[in-house]
Amino acid sequence: MSLIDKVTQSIYIDGEWLKVDEAHSDIIYNPAILEPLTTISAGGEAETKKAISAAHRAFKSWGSMSGRKRSRILYKAHELMLADAERLGEILTMEQGKPLKEAIGEVKGAAGFLLWYAEEASRSYGEWLPSSVRSKRMIVMPQPVGVVGAITPWNFPSSMITRKLGPALAAGCTVVLKPAPETPLSAIEIVKIFEQAGMPPGVVNLVTGDAEAIGQEMLSNKHVRHITFTGSTAVGKYLMRESADQVKKLSLELGGHAPIIIFEDADLDKAVSLSLASKFRNNGQTCICANRVYVHESVAETFQTKLQKQVETLKVGNGLEEDTDLGPLINAQAKDKVQTHLDDAMQKGADIVCGGDTAEQPDSYFMSPTVLAGVTDDMRIMREETFGPIMPIQIFSDEQAVIEKANDTDYGLAAYFFTENTSRAIRVSEALDYGIIGVNDVFPAVPEAPFGGVKQSGTGKEGGHHGMDEFLEKKLVSLGIES
Ligand code: NAP
Repeated sequence: MSLIDKVTQSIYIDGEWLKVDEAHSDIIYNPAILEPLTTISAGGEAETKKAISAAHRAFKSWGSMSGRKRSRILYKAHELMLADAERLGEILTMEQGKPLKEAIGEVKGAAGFLLWYAEEASRSYGEWLPSSVRSKRMIVMPQPVGVVGAITPWNFPSSMITRKLGPALAAGCTVVLKPAPETPLSAIEIVKIFEQAGMPPGVVNLVTGDAEAIGQEMLSNKHVRHITFTGSTAVGKYLMRESADQVKKLSLELGGHAPIIIFEDADLDKAVSLSLASKFRNNGQTCICANRVYVHESVAETFQTKLQKQVETLKVGNGLEEDTDLGPLINAQAKDKVQTHLDDAMQKGADIVCGGDTAEQPDSYFMSPTVLAGVTDDMRIMREETFGPIMPIQIFSDEQAVIEKANDTDYGLAAYFFTENTSRAIRVSEALDYGIIGVNDVFPAVPEAPFGGVKQSGTGKEGGHHGMDEFLEKKLVSLGIES
């Protein structure tokens, strides 16, 4: 039996799946073999309007339901997702390209967000504030914001959805979800899981299709009180500008340009294997993956030699094949961008340590993992998000100077460094101007901790109790009493 039907219902409003009208449809491709996977609905303004109305109606009962009741549905969804992780992982690999082991890991991580927020649903505490006068009592009541518009990217088609929907639903909000056009199938599966878990109609709605039309309706419809977006900084800025008119709440998880610094006192073996894991996970298409590496001059040669050895063992191929380490890039546009960064670096004098033979498979979206030495600050790869499997290495000699280089960017999502010196670990963590710092660690995205950037990498947090706070208004009740 095929995992994916030829035609897939992809618009879900008020508990009903809309039939796919082939006159308004999109074809979804497998980026590894460039063949169609299925056809889905292309919705727009009308469908989004309907979905928002359904979410608005459902908010009355969902928002006032006890946290414990909401928790049970989220917990059930978590269980269903975990039990089906292998099948969901296969679907994810087919639409997105990442190796199956990474895809199954992502699905399990996505289920982890549902578990965490199932637990948090009963814990939206308020405050009782001491009043400055005897005749008053001050209560701070957390209340769900209302209808949430959620827009997600293709690079983590499963976990980017549960990281938003978990806290929004736990807080008592209802949702209209618009997934990325490249990877709607994981979104569809997640919505089916919610349906199976007993989510009441209208609480979660899904609209696939025309991003501009769907986004415009989310922005202009007064029932949408919060927009939560993960994607590029350019689209994030657009949403920020356009939501000003109604002063909507916004959470923005945007692009990054993460530095990794290898200090002279680092555990080099750990630094090599984790730098490699950070850079080449999901083929470099991760917002927090290393975009540039700075190595101290005293360990540079050893680091580079060890790294090269490991990179040369990585296997590029179809993510469904068991020994694949790097799948394809998501599409031709993504491949062109990575190639442009590579060409620019080569023209400006970079040296290829390994890889670089990207042009050998011109008709596919595959690229070889590549390490570059001799890179300079004027190269695009050192300033712009590459989103591909190229690791540029620069040598440094001074702690303060490397911190300044690391901070010299408009992005501020994640930064990493390796050291065995505790004082340096604290000092450098404090000095790096980023929302997330990894010290001897490159996997900071976990359900229990706040994840989010500063500067042009975004605003707001996902994960932890901080993630649920985004979806709660703090209402003040000022109570006059006879004293
Ligand atoms: P993108 O082009 O900004 O798209 C993200 C989502 O926004 C897609 O669903 C897209 O749909 C939609 N969109 C685009 N224009 C829109 C509009 N005018 N109104 C409403 N929705 C609109 O980003 P991407 O290429 O999918 O994802 C890669 C980017 O995401 C990278 O920059 C990466 O760093 C960032 N990212 C950040 C995080 C984080 O946590 N900070 C996590 C993952 C990814 P269409 O494609 O149909 O336009």
